[in-house]
Amino acid sequence: MLKIKEIKAKSIIQKSALPGSDYVINPYIGCLHGCIYCYARFMKRFTNHPEPWGKFIDIKVNAPDLIPRDTKKYKDKSIGISSVTDAYQPIEGKYKLTRGVLKKLIPPQPDLWILTKSDLIIRDIDLLKQFKKCVVGVSLSTLDDKIRKEVEPLAASVERRINALKKLKEAGIKTYVFISPIFPFLTDWQGIIEKTKNFAGEFWFENLNLYSSLRNNIYSWLKNHHPELAERYQEIYFTKNNYWNKVEKEIADYGRKNKLDFKIYFHH
Ligand code: SF4
Repeated sequence: MLKIKEIKAKSIIQKSALPGSDYVINPYIGCLHGCIYCYARFMKRFTNHPEPWGKFIDIKVNAPDLIPRDTKKYKDKSIGISSVTDAYQPIEGKYKLTRGVLKKLIPPQPDLWILTKSDLIIRDIDLLKQFKKCVVGVSLSTLDDKIRKEVEPLAASVERRINALKKLKEAGIKTYVFISPIFPFLTDWQGIIEKTKNFAGEFWFENLNLYSSLRNNIYSWLKNHHPELAERYQEIYFTKNNYWNKVEKEIADYGRKNKLDFKIYFHH
């Protein structure tokens, strides 16, 4: 059962501690994409929701109204949409809050970035084109849609995301692919690059972080779908080894050899 609630927010533009981002906007609290590795699940403790992360959403129905109309405050400041939700999860199709927010952000012309796992973003290409500085990232953790369904059950399919990148690129919008998280032995990051390199200006990489809050989720997924990998994950995450150093080096070597623009955000 999903818990869907409309709320009135007090503010919508929050200062950000993320690197390269002055402010963030999250039109929703919670995210129905329900990724099993979602680091944003820490947000649950700031809500009154008893439902698990991925099973509730608060819709900030007044989000666009909270963006000041005449302000230079955000001009050339970087604003990210979104940091702890996906602004283009399916319910955005009905509420159009992200669209409303974008319309209001056109006059101040912030330096805009958006990261999503949804192809609904192509609906807003007409607005995105009106920003002088705008970059859209599309996340992919796998090319295998069977695995995608296991780990990102309600996000757009791999094919739809790649198609969205293509459409964004054709519209002249700067794009990057966020290859995240890299699942040991499952994420074919080279394959993702090959499939998307014609539509992406940059590649960002992040490894799977096994925060304690995620461990149960990840291990029950492995147990149910990839039992042969459970022990190998155990070794990577709980013994001294240089697995991630090796992957990091392989990516850096590959990136340099293929003259890619890339950033690696590994924590290990
Ligand atoms: S799309 Fe992003 S915010 Fe939403 S559940 Fe997945 S990782 Fe979390």
